[in-house]
Amino acid sequence: MYRSGVEYADFGINHVEGCAHGCKFPCYAMIMKKRCGVIKSYKEWLKPKIVVNALELLDKEIPKYKDKIKFVNLCFSTDPFMYKYPEVNDLTLKIIERLNKDNIRCVVLTKGIYPKVLVNTQKYGENNEYGITMVSLDRGFKKLFEPYSAPYKNRIKSLKYLHGQGLKTWVSMEPYPTPNLAEQDLLKILEEISFVDKIIFGKLNYNVKSSQFSDNKDFYQNSAETVIEFCENRGIEYHIKYGTQKKDNKKTEKIFTESIKELIYEYDF
Ligand code: SF4
Repeated sequence: MYRSGVEYADFGINHVEGCAHGCKFPCYAMIMKKRCGVIKSYKEWLKPKIVVNALELLDKEIPKYKDKIKFVNLCFSTDPFMYKYPEVNDLTLKIIERLNKDNIRCVVLTKGIYPKVLVNTQKYGENNEYGITMVSLDRGFKKLFEPYSAPYKNRIKSLKYLHGQGLKTWVSMEPYPTPNLAEQDLLKILEEISFVDKIIFGKLNYNVKSSQFSDNKDFYQNSAETVIEFCENRGIEYHIKYGTQKKDNKKTEKIFTESIKELIYEYDF
């Protein structure tokens, strides 16, 4: 476990090294692992290696960090519900169960499929927040940029199931592509995921073609405004990642802790 530097995050866990989804946005986690010499190639990144003693490590780390943790993000450097990797999914379920046992909330994000067992709130707790990444609905785009992740439709279906069972759900629309990479209707994507509680929207970084798009700044400003208006009309909480708008709004960065604050407020007065 470690304290994450991501603006809306708290603590993070990465219990797998590598990721079979093989995103080509590119994947920032892969770039960093390559830069540090941990992996040599994209091919190596595609072969996930499980941290076999992850649960033992967690047993040692939970007492150390428990008082400092607001919630734990799974995961920023791999995918916790890697598509067609049941061994990764099994370990992730055990980790969520272990954290929830100590009343530590989990904020999960995947490009895979959520297992239905998560609705067992006796085992996994009811305050976790389950998210999927959705930046397009186009299968051609997925094939190029997230070649081995779960199909968009199945991803949404599994999230909708959790939502239907009363669990909290969210969508990360990041990294959202510029029109020279994908001509698409942002509102159509928003409509598809309009059942969720929270949306995070962010620009695409580290992509040469995207940064060369001449109206890059205006495009992201307008897209962010579309997301904000949509969310405000539907009562969906939102956060626009820093650097996406011309002027950042820092008020929304605590998107995963606000509700807790409200609860504390209610009980205090
Ligand atoms: S799912 Fe995330 S960690 Fe995996 S390859 Fe894609 S961007 Fe990288």
